[in-house]
Amino acid sequence: MMNFWGFSIAEARVIDYDKNDKSLAEMLAEEMPTTRLCIGCGGCSATCTAGNLTEFNIRKLQMLLKRGETKDLRDQLHKCMLCGKCLLVCPRGVDTRKMILFLFRQLSEQDHNS
Ligand code: SF4
Ligand code: SF4
Repeated sequence: MMNFWGFSIAEARVIDYDKNDKSLAEMLAEEMPTTRLCIGCGGCSATCTAGNLTEFNIRKLQMLLKRGETKDLRDQLHKCMLCGKCLLVCPRGVDTRKMILFLFRQLSEQDHNS
């Protein structure tokens, strides 16, 4: 942080999504092409059982995943109850429940290999 005559100028905050690791999202899109069709309408999160009881947000999870922001992904996934309501309301036919199971499997494999 620079100081000028008692004033300070904060460093610019830049979020560079291009530097994030998006391999998990790419794997998901390859395995389940319907996940590419999400338009972010929020129907899934509006009807989500876990979202009604916790801070879980399935729409946001998908957005963060595509940006490669997967830091809290594991904790978030554990909140899903796999009830399947989200996929019943999705206007784009995204199988969100299958997506969550796929992500669980990938994260478990990563744990196993590390
Ligand atoms: S309901 Fe379907 S299209 Fe809408 S945000 Fe959820 S996954 Fe995406
Ligand atoms: S399957 Fe998971 S994400 Fe979908 S509505 Fe149920 S708790 Fe929410």
